[in-house]
Amino acid sequence: MEVVWFKKDLRLLDHAALAAAAGLGPVLGLWIYEDDVMGGEDFDARHLGFANECLAELDERLAAYDVRLLRRRGDAVAVFEELWQQTHFCRLHSHQETGNAITYRRDLAVIAWARQRGVHWQEYAQTGVVRKLQKRDGWAERWLQRMTPPPRGIPHGLHGFNAANLAGESVCTAQDFGLSPDLSEPLRQRGGSSCGHATLERFLQERGVGYTKEMSSPVTAWEACSRVSPYLTWGALSVRQCLHASVDRRRNLLEQKALGQRIDARWLSSMKSFQGRLRWHCHFMQKLEDEPAIEHRNFSRSCDGLRNEFHSDVESFNAWKEGRTGYPMIDACMRALTATGWLNFRMRAMVMSFASYHLWLHWREPGLHLARMFLDYEPGIHWSQCQMQSGTTGINTLRVYSPTKQLLDQDPQGKFIRQWLPELAQVPDVYLAEPWNMPALEQQFCGCVIGRDYPVPIVDHPTAYRHAQEKMHHLRQHNDSKREARRIQKKHGSRKQGTKTWR
Ligand SMILES: Cc1cc2nc3c(=O)[nH]c(=O)nc-3n(C[C@H](O)[C@H](O)[C@H](O)COP(=O)(O)OP(=O)(O)OC[C@H]3O[C@@H](n4cnc5c(N)ncnc54)[C@H](O)[C@@H]3O)c2cc1C
Repeated sequence: MEVVWFKKDLRLLDHAALAAAAGLGPVLGLWIYEDDVMGGEDFDARHLGFANECLAELDERLAAYDVRLLRRRGDAVAVFEELWQQTHFCRLHSHQETGNAITYRRDLAVIAWARQRGVHWQEYAQTGVVRKLQKRDGWAERWLQRMTPPPRGIPHGLHGFNAANLAGESVCTAQDFGLSPDLSEPLRQRGGSSCGHATLERFLQERGVGYTKEMSSPVTAWEACSRVSPYLTWGALSVRQCLHASVDRRRNLLEQKALGQRIDARWLSSMKSFQGRLRWHCHFMQKLEDEPAIEHRNFSRSCDGLRNEFHSDVESFNAWKEGRTGYPMIDACMRALTATGWLNFRMRAMVMSFASYHLWLHWREPGLHLARMFLDYEPGIHWSQCQMQSGTTGINTLRVYSPTKQLLDQDPQGKFIRQWLPELAQVPDVYLAEPWNMPALEQQFCGCVIGRDYPVPIVDHPTAYRHAQEKMHHLRQHNDSKREARRIQKKHGSRKQGTKTWR
């Protein structure tokens, strides 16, 4: 019997571990509801809800090949030991996971257990992340090599093992882990490979035409971005599937053009841009793979002590979390995120930058809140990005976003703002970016009195901006910072040469 341990790879297609197992014998699928993982500070009921939806579809699809998906709950080693006592299985297959500290420690414990029991645990790469990477040079070429083979189909010879006597769990819910209810349930994306494929297809054929221009505004991004991120995070789609689908689409467009048919040229740049981002996906995950400590500590050690991790300003933090900062663009984003589980890149960067520079909060607590809220929470991308937007990577250009400017640039008519901040619904466009500048009479007239119906800003942007600039500028002048920057660039920095994508 070949045991396939499903983790963040909840699909049947393009699945190396499943293909290898199917080639060796009858397969038993295993999913573990792990109390440690589900009780983690970065875990939310929305993640469990999405995973359960993926599992339901996977279960159904595996059943068509008589393969059972056994669900069990508990500590991974205990679950494996119990299964081993029942079946004496000797091979375990799974994907290589680049997860958080909890899953990293768990994997080490499973390695030790497997060794002790003589079980051979084989892990297979499912992204472009390279395990035990020696140096970053040439990484982009390796990524391309990994991505070049076409995605695998249904594993040849896939069939099951008679596992009727093995007791399993039914579906575990948020309540089972003492999690608060999923606030995004009505509006978030649904899990499962079919939803993933439909989302990708609609992006490639309809929604993605204005991708490059429309990805930055929260008014257009919900439709114009691919929205494949939660499917990639949970492995309902593979990076390679997305990449090949977009390469095929681009090729198709070029063929139409060569035949003299009219095509919208924006599609070509959309596809290129999308392909580049799929490479970033792996590029950022590689950083955590190479240095797991960045989940908890600064990339640049010269930033240690810059902000106090353990004495956060709780009031400011709560106002930020709940969308009560008095800055409409921040507040609308935070409320939209809670309700839908998603934000586009620029708005993610802005809310993180606001927490870091305006409120001077250490990135860890805000990062944990965002991790819980993002349906697509992917530790490698997330912690690298949180640190990047906080200025602690030591190598990236510092970007302090002005929420006022972002509103004027990205939502001048206040469509997004009014959707998520009904208290500002009647505020005239000219005052939306800075409602506190509205004359008292106007406030009465439009039913939005600042300080009563909508908060006074919790921080003054120009003052906070100046303070942040001075601190960061001062820090970056230090020799320690420069030394750290060289080390980080060597270990993690992207190399300009060799970053070509698909033709
Ligand atoms: C503070 C912060 C935290 C973030 N946390 C996450 C996270 O936990 N999980 C996550 O998937 N993305 C994260 N991102 C990156 C990015 O915002 C999301 O990938 C993107 O918004 C997802 O929507 P999409 O699938 O429509 O993206 P698209 O723009 O359509 O891009 C397609 C795919 O490319 C990858 N991608 C896009 N942008 C980036 C990027 N900047 N870095 C790395 N990969 C990228 C993602 O896999 C994405 O699904 C974060 C960004 C910031 C600023």
